[in-house]
Amino acid sequence: MRNVVIIGSGCAGNTAAIYTARANLSPLVISGHEAGGQLSLTTLVENFPGFPEGINGPDLVENMKLQAQHFGAEYLHGAVIDTDFSGRPFRLNIEGEWIETRTVIVASGASARWLGLESEQKLIGHGVSSCATCDGFFYRQKKIMVIGGGDSAMEEANFLTRFGSEVTLVHRREEFRASKIMLDRARHNPKIKFLPNTVVDHVFDVSQNLVTGVRLRNLKTDQVWEQDVDGFFVAIGHIPNTKIFKGQIETDPDGYIISKGGARTGVTGIFHAGDVQDRTYRQAITASGAGCMAAIEVERYLEAEGH
Ligand code: NAP
Repeated sequence: MRNVVIIGSGCAGNTAAIYTARANLSPLVISGHEAGGQLSLTTLVENFPGFPEGINGPDLVENMKLQAQHFGAEYLHGAVIDTDFSGRPFRLNIEGEWIETRTVIVASGASARWLGLESEQKLIGHGVSSCATCDGFFYRQKKIMVIGGGDSAMEEANFLTRFGSEVTLVHRREEFRASKIMLDRARHNPKIKFLPNTVVDHVFDVSQNLVTGVRLRNLKTDQVWEQDVDGFFVAIGHIPNTKIFKGQIETDPDGYIISKGGARTGVTGIFHAGDVQDRTYRQAITASGAGCMAAIEVERYLEAEGH
């Protein structure tokens, strides 16, 4: 019987592991399909406090893991494939093997939605990004493209005009899903050029391991052309990794866990941390903070239960 199982090994999960390990709770961390979370897909991280020169995303998350292991956290490679939260102890099926635990911290994150182009996938971290806050700074006086028609795309396009010499916003339809206020703000920004009814079908240049441009297609006219681009930001939404908790932990219609205050989910003894609940901030530092909160709540909960 485990005291605490942490689902996910990104910033939230690793920080929860450091705190619960230091509280002598011998946490078990299930690494998940995307071990290391979204940081493992980035290059330089310049906004995580404590690293004046910045630090590579994969190094940052690996350091957190080593720190947790140093205090006795155990890591299990693999993914949770089924859960039973209907009684106590809670039960988790990890790749075929059931384990029991008194508490769970769900830190399974959210995955950025990508276009799915092979060239896009190969250039993630080399000019292709899903986070303007993280990577915008690298594109000062450069040509930037943002994909999407929702609030995220508007927000990212506006934010990126602080850096780029120009920002092109590409959206597949004429109508925008974004709220009027966000759309208007982007439309009134003279640095943003709108390309509606348009899709990107290739990102150049995989052979240089660097984004140099894209091929675009207008869906109404079928016109195809190429455009020089240095930074390619995909802002077409995120998918919270909560499918396996369906019907067991309350989520909103998009699948994000609904918080009951602090790090509490609707199930007593199950806590949330990081992007699996947070659709607003989604930063490494906020995920780490949430991991810390969840760990402290686990500690207090177990103490109150007499463990
Ligand atoms: P979203 O509202 O779901 O919008 C996603 C956009 O990406 C849509 O325009 C969609 O196009 C497009 N898209 C999806 N898949 C695509 C594909 N394969 N190829 C091309 N385009 C694709 O997601 P979001 O903008 O991330 O926003 C998520 C939620 O967070 C929303 O509720 C939003 O209001 C909220 N949010 C709020 C703020 C704020 O208020 N400050 C900021 C960011 C986000 P279609 O429209 O054609 O489907």
